[in-house]
Amino acid sequence: MNHTVALYDVTQVYVTERGASLAIENITFAVEAGEFVTLVGPSGCGKTTILSLIAGLLQPTVGKVEVNGSAVAKPSTKVGYMLQQDYLFPWRTIWQNVLVGLELNGGLTNEKRKYAEHLLGEMGLLETRDRLPAQLSGGMRQRVALVRTLVTEPDILLLDEPFSALDYQTKLQLEDLVAETLRAHRKTALLVTHDIAEAIAMSDRVIVLDRNPGRIRTELAVPEEIRAQTPFRSREQPGFHPLVEHIWRELEASEDRG
Ligand code: ADP
Ligand code: MG
Repeated sequence: MNHTVALYDVTQVYVTERGASLAIENITFAVEAGEFVTLVGPSGCGKTTILSLIAGLLQPTVGKVEVNGSAVAKPSTKVGYMLQQDYLFPWRTIWQNVLVGLELNGGLTNEKRKYAEHLLGEMGLLETRDRLPAQLSGGMRQRVALVRTLVTEPDILLLDEPFSALDYQTKLQLEDLVAETLRAHRKTALLVTHDIAEAIAMSDRVIVLDRNPGRIRTELAVPEEIRAQTPFRSREQPGFHPLVEHIWRELEASEDRG
């Protein structure tokens, strides 16, 4: 069986006017179908670079990136990408924003319109469909962005700090909503965050990265009793805080190394 996502010894060098810089080095990991994996690490450790490689927006300098067993050559509808900034078009209504991906890939059918309505309903956004993004809160806009990503029915979701611009309350609510939605739709997900608690609360497995250059420092499986809870409730599990501390220490040691 192929891995759903796999990186083999991937190194990425960025070349700029000021010279070449090593962003990530010898990164190897895999994500299996239906798994929720989170990458945590300090700013600049290469998290976004890794997602861009998987999304096919970048080609690795060295190494191999595969989705469903095939090398990633270009962006594909199999992989959905959701960013920290919602990037909704301000002049389009919520409904028009949700359909933009389908319009672009020529997949806008009546069936898809129904599915978009269904997702908007799941996210509690049906009443906002004729509004403009500026009339919505940050949390609502991120929910719209999630609907827009899900409506093209990707197998794999890449989530790049999707909650980091939100207030704490909204972030906790969205964590639950996103976890529940991805589970219900059986998606494979790769989340990027610098929030350790969020990483543990959301995922099956956490990969901790070092920086300069970005490398995998360690990897932890989240225990079943934490995974069985919603992200919000998982924070009450006795094993939760020791795990936060463990990752915290790893990240601190990583800083000392540089
Ligand atoms: P993170 O998402 O973990 O903050 P990034 O993947 O954005 O990290 O960046 C990793 C490293 O690569 C950083 O040192 C960053 O400055 C550098 N980098 C990222 N994108 C580019 C680019 N387009 N050109 C040059 N350097 C880049
Ligand atoms: Mg980033």
